[in-house]
Amino acid sequence: MSAINKQHIATLKLAMEAELARLLNETKDEMNPTLRTSFADVSGEVTTHGDESIAESVVDLDNAMIGIHLQKVNDLYAALDRIQAGVYGICGDCGESVSVERLTAYPTAKRCINCQTLHEKKP
Ligand SMILES: [Zn+2]
Repeated sequence: MSAINKQHIATLKLAMEAELARLLNETKDEMNPTLRTSFADVSGEVTTHGDESIAESVVDLDNAMIGIHLQKVNDLYAALDRIQAGVYGICGDCGESVSVERLTAYPTAKRCINCQTLHEKKP
């Protein structure tokens, strides 16, 4: 396992900026009430078949997708901030280098694999 170099960070930065732009674009569309399927529209269609729970699941799924997008957007901003601050690729918990392999697979990783494993085990 080796620490990440500047060249590699520059490559990941470009990929993350592209991903961020794409997500912001998609999230904007989802948030737009004229484009978004409203509960009334969905339930209006579905109640004719006598099943309102399907309409509720569709809306829940919609909200969940927006939540996931916003989380990703926040993670991307945070990772780009760490690049800016010169601390990208350094574990926020133990201060060790996060492996290149981990950052390549998961560019917004805030922790090294050991600390992440510990973090996920916490209740
Ligand atoms: Zn760590």
